[in-house]
Formats: sequence, structure tokens, C-alpha cells
Amino acid sequence: MRTRTPRIATAAALAAVLTLSLTACGQEARGGSRYRADDGTTGTIGLAMPTKSSERWIADGKNMAEQFRRAGYRPDLQYGDDKVENQVAQLENMIAKGHRLLVVAAIDGSALTDVLERAHDAGIPVISYDRLIMGTENVDYYASFDNERVGELEATYIVGRLGLKRNKDTFNIELFAGSPDDNNTKYFWNGAMKVLKPYISAGRLVVRSKQTGLNQATTLRWDGGTAQKRMDDLISKNYGDARVDAVLSPYDGISIGIISALKSAGYGSGDQPLPVVTGQDAELASVKSIIRGEQTQTVFKDTRKLAAQAVQMGDAVLTGKKPEVNNTKDYNNGKKTVPSYLLDPVSIDKSNTQLLVNEGYFTAGQLT
Ligand code: BGC
Repeated sequence: MRTRTPRIATAAALAAVLTLSLTACGQEARGGSRYRADDGTTGTIGLAMPTKSSERWIADGKNMAEQFRRAGYRPDLQYGDDKVENQVAQLENMIAKGHRLLVVAAIDGSALTDVLERAHDAGIPVISYDRLIMGTENVDYYASFDNERVGELEATYIVGRLGLKRNKDTFNIELFAGSPDDNNTKYFWNGAMKVLKPYISAGRLVVRSKQTGLNQATTLRWDGGTAQKRMDDLISKNYGDARVDAVLSPYDGISIGIISALKSAGYGSGDQPLPVVTGQDAELASVKSIIRGEQTQTVFKDTRKLAAQAVQMGDAVLTGKKPEVNNTKDYNNGKKTVPSYLLDPVSIDKSNTQLLVNEGYFTAGQLT
């Protein structure tokens, strides 16, 4: 553990922590009384998000900015446009400006070692947001969802929809994975393959392309267009006289690309229904696609709750308290096991999209 190990151990409920944080001004904190900037805030927090090309990251940034602001901080929200060099430059800038804390959703989890060394030298704590930052001591906490569970939910959904436990039929499946530089990718993949492998080994699920290795299934930067091209190729080379029954997709943007390729090949019309296609993030376009009967499933990860975790962690670190964590063993980044808080993901299909409205994630109007 680093020198800034918090002193007071509390596992207060998140709401209580956030409420406390609003009243904590003047309270003793690490290094003396709680800092107050000239503008009355308790200092600036750097929020480095990967891209605006996906709705989820826009929501993550907005939620965190709002919640940090409510807790008395000033957020500096930056997006790296999925370019590693942009994100590094943004972090350098935040360090130079003396931000008090960095919350980072990495574009490439292994590319931040040098810049985080500089954050460490400047005494700035770092929270790894959603994606684990790899290969450095200089990451203090990790807030995410149970990433392996995400893959399990997708694969279990496929097994259920194809009726693999009830029938003795054989189905064709193709497999997609996330970006190779995102540490989450292997957790999603491992979670899914744990469920699918026994059926693949027993010949109940057939991968006609034979592309069953993670390195064959990855999609650089989670790009939907790249996935679409790969799916076009898989269909034309392997499905002349056969049908795709299911596609494991780890992200809604990838699912959209896959569905476009399937439609171009004639699926979704006449007597050729679309296969089961999974997804992740419950992005609006995909939830609407599920309601229309195109994409079959997605995994809902409430970005408001994740933002709240990052805020409770950040506020605790900055006020000398111990952040609440619920996993201290599974997320090793090659240099240390990073204390983590993992939230539960939820599987969504046509039967329970209403949950997203009940939870206030979307309005009923948005889903019509
Ligand atoms: C996130 C997913 C997201 C993907 C693409 C992953 O790191 O955990 O929620 O779908 O990145 O943005």
C-alpha cells in the first residue's frame, strides 16, 4: 500500500458517504484540514474518459461530473477520442494544473505507466474507472461492474434462448470479443466461455469459422464497423448453406455492426430470422433494437451507480477515510491487486426493458 493509505475505516452506505461528504468541510483530513479552493470548492477532480462515440461514456462523464460537483468538488471532464496520446496529454495537463484526484477510464489499459508515475510524484491519487489500469503501482482503487458476470449473463442468455438444456439440437454460433487493449475484454470473454465451452466441446454449439480463440475474436477499440466487416466475412466464408443461430457480442455498438452484416446477408427478412445477438451497456439504440425484435439481449450497467462509487472512493481518499470496497483479490494489474468495488450487471431482453424505465435510466417516451 502507498503512503496515502486512509486512516479511518468506515464501510458506510454510499448514500451516507455522499451526504457526509457534503458536510465534511472543515473536518480533519489527510495532511491537515480539508482543502478549499478560492472558488469555495474543495478542489478540481480530473475525469479522463475514453470516447464520446458511445453513449455509455457520455453518461459516465456527465454522472460523475454532476456527483462530484454535488459533493463540493469541481470536475474537469475530458474525452480522449479513443486516441491513447490524447488521453496521456489530458492526464499530463491535469497533473500540471494540480488536480487533487484523477479518475481514469483508460483507452489502452497498459499505456499510462509513465503519466501515472508523474501523478504519483505529485501526490495525486488515481481511481481506475470501469477498466483496470495495468502494469503500474500508481493506481489506488478500482470501481467497476463484475466483468466476468457480464460475459456469463450473455452466454447464459444464449444457452437459454437456444434451449440447449432442454433439446438435443445443434446450433451455429460465432464469437466476438472486445478491444484487445482493454483489460475488461478477457473477463467478459472468460465469463462467457466458461458457460459456452462445454456446449462447444460437446458439438452442440458449432463455430463454423473455427475462430474460437480470444485473439481471433477481438475488435480493436470496440469499433462497430470493424465488427461488421468481420461478420460479413464470417458469413460469406462459412455460411453458404448454413445459418447463424447465435452471436456472442460483448457490446451494443458491436452488436449493431453484427446485425447490419446479418441483414445485408438476408437475415431478418422473410423466413430467415435474425440469430440471437447479445450485447452490453443497454444503450438507447440497442434497447430500441431489442424492442423491435432485432438485437436480442443486452447487459445493463447503471452508470449512475458506478459514478456514485467513484465519487465515494474519491471523496474518501481525499478526506482521509477508507473507501468502501467489496473485492480485494480478483483485480491484479501485474504490479498490485487493486482494491475494488464491483457492481452487479443485469441482463435485459424484450421481456424486461421496462426495468430501465422503472429505474429512471430511460423515460418511457425514449423507448417508443
Ligand atoms: C466497458 C463496457 C463497454 C466497452 C466499450 C468496456 O471497458 O466495460 O461497458 O461496452 O468498454 O466501450
